[in-house]
Amino acid sequence: MFGALGGPRLLLRRLREVMAEPVSPQARLDKIVVHIAASMVAEVCSVYVLRADGRLELYATEGLNREAVHLTTMRASEGLVGLIAETAEPLALADAQNHPAFSYHPETGEEVYSSFLGVPILRGGNTLGVLDIQNRARRIYTDEEIEALQTTAMLLAEMIASGEVQSIAQPGGDIAVGRPMSLQGSALCDGVGLGHVVLHEPRIVVKQLIAEDIKHEMERLDTAIAAMRAAIDRLIERGNMGPGEHREVLETFRMVAHDRGWLRRLREAVTTGLTAEAAVERVQNDARAKLQRHTDPSMRERLHDLDDLANRLLHQLTGQSFVSAHDQLPENAIIVARTMGPAALLEYDRSRLRGLILEDAGGGSHVAIVARALGIPTVGDLDNILDFVEPGDAIIVDGALGDVHVRPTPDVEHAYAEKARLRARRLEQYHKLRNVPAITRDGVEIELHMNAGLLVDLQHLAETGAVSVGLFRTELQFMLASRFPRMGEQEKWYRSALDIAKGKPIAFRTLDIGSDKVLPYMIELQEENPALGWRAIRIGLDRPGVLRPQLRGLLRAGAGREMRIMFPMIASIAELDAAKAVLEHEVALLRRHGHKPPAELKVGVMVEVPSLLWELENICRRVDFISVGSNDLMQYFYAVDRDNKRVAHRFDPLSAPFLRALKQIVDVARATSTPVTLCGEMGGKPLEALALLALGYRGLSMSAAAIGPIKAMILATDLRVVRGFVASLIGETASAEAGEETLRTTLREFAEHQGIPI
Ligand code: PEP
Ligand code: MG
Repeated sequence: MFGALGGPRLLLRRLREVMAEPVSPQARLDKIVVHIAASMVAEVCSVYVLRADGRLELYATEGLNREAVHLTTMRASEGLVGLIAETAEPLALADAQNHPAFSYHPETGEEVYSSFLGVPILRGGNTLGVLDIQNRARRIYTDEEIEALQTTAMLLAEMIASGEVQSIAQPGGDIAVGRPMSLQGSALCDGVGLGHVVLHEPRIVVKQLIAEDIKHEMERLDTAIAAMRAAIDRLIERGNMGPGEHREVLETFRMVAHDRGWLRRLREAVTTGLTAEAAVERVQNDARAKLQRHTDPSMRERLHDLDDLANRLLHQLTGQSFVSAHDQLPENAIIVARTMGPAALLEYDRSRLRGLILEDAGGGSHVAIVARALGIPTVGDLDNILDFVEPGDAIIVDGALGDVHVRPTPDVEHAYAEKARLRARRLEQYHKLRNVPAITRDGVEIELHMNAGLLVDLQHLAETGAVSVGLFRTELQFMLASRFPRMGEQEKWYRSALDIAKGKPIAFRTLDIGSDKVLPYMIELQEENPALGWRAIRIGLDRPGVLRPQLRGLLRAGAGREMRIMFPMIASIAELDAAKAVLEHEVALLRRHGHKPPAELKVGVMVEVPSLLWELENICRRVDFISVGSNDLMQYFYAVDRDNKRVAHRFDPLSAPFLRALKQIVDVARATSTPVTLCGEMGGKPLEALALLALGYRGLSMSAAAIGPIKAMILATDLRVVRGFVASLIGETASAEAGEETLRTTLREFAEHQGIPI
């Protein structure tokens, strides 16, 4: 029941005026509650704000005892106000005192009030406080009143989020918005970044909340919805919405766009006097508050869909296009994105970028691959991070641990600034080591090679002093392309790579696609067991149209130079012979067509399928070098999916059986005089690398960032001592006696005792 002072629209207009008045924040809040109470014919109107310590504090009231302002506080689950904060849902009661959650605060003098209507103050689905009204008489609040109060709460949310309310916080009572937060995600790229939040897709700011003409707003909403649906239909017709998104996903998306409940809520919000865009924001706030709490992934997917739809509608309605943050990147920027394509990351000015945070991207995502190539500290898999940050917020990314600190306290900031300084100093020391040969204390020289996949990686060859590129994952370039690259384009890439490498050899691995590495433009394969399915050389051999142009491009790029080509996922002699036959055929063609061949062609094979361990001698006799892919070897050895978070860490490469297998490989390679390197992740981790040296490995290939720490480890190692120790750990009976699955702790203690930096 709205009083003689007018309906919800008039109230909103009045409040807008109050928002613009040049008064103190407290006076503004005081005026707001007076207006609401008068307009809604309530004896009481109160605003509670959520503090950083999790308590709700009374910030303004009309009708309750004014002395209670800034004195009354409650837990965020206590009383009716606490219940609203906790559930993020409105609560309307005719007989509030008999509600089980009712709690009595004598200082407020509220016992005389019978009816209660409270709504959460929401922003991005997070509760910032509670707004309520109370009446002496028992009364049922109408839906219109509930809606009106919710809309009013949006104004308050704006005021709280703007920082204005924080300025009247009592000492020790900082408010929740803007409070420090620490979150944990997946560590995607090592490094520490301190800076300020830049949103990859800036939020649309709804400036006009109150409708001048409801009918007109309803028409605007309907037109925007129709335009949005038409756009989705067009996407489906085209059959593609961008990499990795498929028809099924789009169909679900279309269904959500036609969801009657959602549309009804949007229209109802307009009826309360909101502009169409404010209605979209209101409804989306509610949806977020409800769905965010769900642990069910399908509900969270739905929230993403709704977010996406709301965003599209807002763009339609405000006519604002996504203003790219690329152009105006401030110094020390930490980009926060739901997700991002790899090309978008490359567009940012690297010199200003200090870190990257991705809500929805794991280690295998393309953007993570590029982030690693560029050495940007990155954390991924951070649910709802976008709800917790505002542009310009101070933020720290710890890409080694996967930690993110939003609005850090001075001590955290200080600790990280120190950590970043130490890291910079260490990097400088590693840099100084770049031309120092990696020789152990007892005189054994180790070759350190670098893994790469993009041209941008190759700049690190000189910076790190790596002797060669031990693994060039050619598929990365393919993953970034929008269609299958032609032979000529490939030839150019490979030639550029060789040019940048300035005479240091590159072991180009032929396409290793399939499983988690998908090419968006190649038909998606739905396989039950993709890691065991049609991938890598299996595709290459079955589809000469894929393998042959690549080999041709490589051979041509290598004209007159040394060319190293390596085949992935070889599981048998027959496969290797077949792959070599294709290569030989291409070499013959090259000559026949009068092209200059490579000065020297070396053929290698990845040892990453366990079956090769029982054919290794024969394999070695057929190739010029081998490279151990310990990532996949480990995956197939223990039958443990390397990308499945539930099982990936179940087994440790530092286990006696796996180390024995690795030893067997290096022993056979040595016996057959076949050069061998190891290019899986373990080669770039100091403790693991130490074990590998002890097994006999003299060549390791790793990410550029790992070379410094590995070299430092090598320079401090006396291999004679380590060799004996590791041999005793993996001797046939050793692990059975110890009953241990991992040798990590024992080895770490040993290394620490020896003063080896690991
Ligand atoms: C491996 O399997 O160890 C490897 C180096 O290849 P990738 O990680 O690209 O599969
Ligand atoms: Mg592999």
